[in-house]
Amino acid sequence: MGGTPELKLYNTLTREKSVFKPIDAENVRMYVCGPTVYDYAHIGNARPVIVFDVLFRLLRHVYGESHVTYARNITDVDDKINARALRDYPGLPLNAAIRAVTEKTERQFLDDALALGSLEPTVQPRATDNIAEMIAIIERLIARGHAYQASGEVLFDTKSMADYGQLSKRNLDEQQAGARVAVDAHKKSPGDFVLWKLSDENEPGWESPWGRGRPGWHIECSAMSGRYLGDVFDIHGGGLDLIFPHHENEIAQSRCAHGTDVMANVWMHNGFLQVEGRKMSKSEGNFVTIYELLHTETFAGRQWPGEVLRLAMLMTHYREPIDFSVKRLEEAERLLAKWPAAEPGDAKPDETVLNALADDLNTVAAVQALHALAQSGDPAVFAASATLLGVLPKKTEIDEAVAAEIDARVKARLELLKAKNFAEADKIRDTLAAEGIQLKDGKNAETGERVTTWEVKK
Ligand SMILES: [Zn+2]
Repeated sequence: MGGTPELKLYNTLTREKSVFKPIDAENVRMYVCGPTVYDYAHIGNARPVIVFDVLFRLLRHVYGESHVTYARNITDVDDKINARALRDYPGLPLNAAIRAVTEKTERQFLDDALALGSLEPTVQPRATDNIAEMIAIIERLIARGHAYQASGEVLFDTKSMADYGQLSKRNLDEQQAGARVAVDAHKKSPGDFVLWKLSDENEPGWESPWGRGRPGWHIECSAMSGRYLGDVFDIHGGGLDLIFPHHENEIAQSRCAHGTDVMANVWMHNGFLQVEGRKMSKSEGNFVTIYELLHTETFAGRQWPGEVLRLAMLMTHYREPIDFSVKRLEEAERLLAKWPAAEPGDAKPDETVLNALADDLNTVAAVQALHALAQSGDPAVFAASATLLGVLPKKTEIDEAVAAEIDARVKARLELLKAKNFAEADKIRDTLAAEGIQLKDGKNAETGERVTTWEVKK
């Protein structure tokens, strides 16, 4: 690790902060639960995207860029998606309607994540590309006596796992005492949860040993983390609200299927988010999406740049609750305005910034150190340090030749779209995105012709 301090992380599983030791320093593996793609992501969804991006950057700094695998899934099968598909695309066959909803929403989520200054995870698996893996895990759970079929469902038998509830520290009796009165009669225990359920002809489904059906939510993450990171991996992250039941049930499935003592060694959870001091909800009128913040004047009558949203988020420690407010955004914007748009070159990040991040991602202290550095430090060291947090102010100038070359590729993509060659068109968009160029599709108001503009992301 050279000059890098020991990395300490708070582990929800042990309720302690301890020194992080990867299973394999050549391949440090992290999984974070991604979005269910049926609607715009809200600002609460932005928090894990940003927090775990900082951890990804830090791990890459410590272990080397090619020695970290970060998987963040896309949940593209869910009853909320079906409902949205039927509502928004009543004329289309169900599968096409579902695809329309999930592709559009996924694209928007990835655009949001990029605009928030996040690196692309190493892999972004879709649930529907991993159905075979889910079926394989369910078969193992049945074979090992951890799952059973009842009333058109395959259920996980929570009583079959002696230490179920380790993460949330709930035992089964507590759960049963707290269970709703109307317990599903077909379950052996009230806490048993769905691994697979049968679909009718109005629901998406895949063939399985138990009939045409679809997976439960929890099994998706067990299948995708297992496929890309192995039976046991280093870090599993997500929001606090996912500890129970989602993460508890992921652990139950993966450990019981693979016969392991843990699923991931370190479990990390970001705190809740409020907006202007109140729980965010549509009925409170303070529900705000990332898209609205970036591109509309919904929040305080103006648009907010991605780097402002990101810095505002990092000015609170990830485990603390955060109050997302105009005041906080303005504070972040004032700080950013004072920071130089420098180039890091070969400079190494500042030790104070690094030490702060290595102490369970203390981004609050890191931002303070960064600000001091911006005032009186070496601009290259500042830039290297700011890059670690993903908050380096953008350089806006771009070389003319480079701009002409990007224009040409954008034009080529438009031709491909016209020819309905979406696969090749998407390739150009993705390559440009990887180079830090984001495309914005729109229509000419008069001619109705498709137009695409681009901008440089940092
Ligand atoms: Zn998950």
